[in-house]
Amino acid sequence: MRFKEARRIKNLPPYLFARIEQVIAQKKEEGVDVISLGIGDPDMPTPEHIIKDAEKQLYVAENHQYPSSVGMLSYRKSVADFYARRFGVELDPKTEVVSLIGSKEGIAHISWCYLDPGDVVLVPDPGYPVYSGGAILAGAEPYYMPLTADKGFLPDLNAIPEDVARKAKMMFINYPNNPTGAVADEAFYIEVIAFARKYEILVCHDNAYSEVSYEGYKPLSFLEIPGAKEVGIEFSSVSKAYNMTGWRIGWAVGNPAVIEALGRFKTNIDSGQFQAIQYAAMAGLNGPQEIVATNNEIYRERRDIVVDGLNAMGWSLEKPKATFYIWAPVPKGFTSASFAEYVIERAGVVITPGNGYGEQGEGYFRISITIPKERIAEALERMKNNIGKVEF
Ligand SMILES: *Cc1c(COP(=O)(O)O)cnc(C)c1O
Repeated sequence: MRFKEARRIKNLPPYLFARIEQVIAQKKEEGVDVISLGIGDPDMPTPEHIIKDAEKQLYVAENHQYPSSVGMLSYRKSVADFYARRFGVELDPKTEVVSLIGSKEGIAHISWCYLDPGDVVLVPDPGYPVYSGGAILAGAEPYYMPLTADKGFLPDLNAIPEDVARKAKMMFINYPNNPTGAVADEAFYIEVIAFARKYEILVCHDNAYSEVSYEGYKPLSFLEIPGAKEVGIEFSSVSKAYNMTGWRIGWAVGNPAVIEALGRFKTNIDSGQFQAIQYAAMAGLNGPQEIVATNNEIYRERRDIVVDGLNAMGWSLEKPKATFYIWAPVPKGFTSASFAEYVIERAGVVITPGNGYGEQGEGYFRISITIPKERIAEALERMKNNIGKVEF
């Protein structure tokens, strides 16, 4: 039997990393010692105090029952306390915080709350694939805002056609940015808020990398900017800060009406996250924070190996201030796909072709530094020896 898929799933592009995993598997079968700089997923373990706390909670009978879809109040309070401490942002845990099964879950579902079929949503290109994926599943039409090097990989809001801006109901932004590693300052967010007010657009800021930064740079929360809570919400999680991507726990915070709608949606499709995992996230948020600085120092060393290594081959890259990504142009004569293929064939190194993040990513590739520095150094050494000097 061959069942006809719904249009909404047929229109969905295959998830980028599924394809990369296929290539890796194939090379490994051929006996190549593949080094993957492809996937952005912290390789270091979750800190022990978090695991210990979760373990203790595993034995508590009331945690074995259905949790609340929107999260325990004590969990939401921990998120609010984190926002107060880290960003100086006041949040009401009852109305302005909702738990998520990882921020990816909320990013995908917010489109279902605010977009009807045919509605327009502004999406960064290149960008995290879930923004357009969630919107397409909801039947909406993404309008892609180009992120280009000359604008510091910030969208040019003035370049959005008037009719598109009027039709748009929602906008996704993400700084520190995946895949470009770019950061945004207060002036940019002020511009976003003015734009959102003028055209009545819900702003969804993805702050997944707020804690991954270097040399004293502290990423902002969108909610720090006056007026942000009137026009938007922010997504984040414990995933990147505390090496907890596998635990699947995050949050959305901000505009109470939007948080209520997202919570109402969730009560209809899931029952929230296992309480022991909510406690683990609380242990991360409320516990000792040295892990963040320790991680960042490890990533900084790795970042320097990549950027210095590529620059020695002919690139002229600046070191990103945040995220664990290096976004770089492909050499002359290559496309994103042909260069990624060339690098795996020649050096056995997996890089992510930039066009996987959108049309504007064509001509770029992304390197992720979530593997040990020895392996990163070896990858760069192999690239130097087997690819050599490049031109642009
Ligand atoms: C990793 C990541 C997320 C989501 O992480 P969760 O584990 O679902 O919280 C969201 N946005 C971006 C840009 C990411 O890179």
